[in-house]
Amino acid sequence: MCRGVQGDAELAREQVWEDELWRLTTAVVGEIAGFSYLEPKRHIRYVHELDGPEAATLGTVLARTSAAIKEVADAELVYVYVFGDSVDHLHFHLAPHHDGGPLNGSMIKGDLTEETLPSGAVMVTSAQFPPLPEIDLRNAADRLRASLQT
Ligand SMILES: [Zn+2]
Repeated sequence: MCRGVQGDAELAREQVWEDELWRLTTAVVGEIAGFSYLEPKRHIRYVHELDGPEAATLGTVLARTSAAIKEVADAELVYVYVFGDSVDHLHFHLAPHHDGGPLNGSMIKGDLTEETLPSGAVMVTSAQFPPLPEIDLRNAADRLRASLQT
């Protein structure tokens, strides 16, 4: 991905848009028409390292490219995935989703169970990865709140 346009054929994708900071490529092999990749031209490895003008423009670029993908693919939604553990050049997978389509809409591995809470919200749990104690989750929330206050 660091090679930009020069690497696109090898990665079975075509560039469909660019500006001075970002480029969008679309897969030309795969299960989903319009499945695309938004990536900074500058080498930024991971989403937690995003900074500078790319950080300042991400929202606008993400909204614009996702809206175009949704329209062109006639999708209900555009899923956004960021992993980072196999390619160390930041890229957002922008995946047009249709009900019943091939995308996995769950973030948790394993055999999943859905439980409707009194509020109407649906909680998804995995048999292989049961929920942690609530105190652990509340402690994480407290640490994040404190970290982001500074
Ligand atoms: Zn790179």
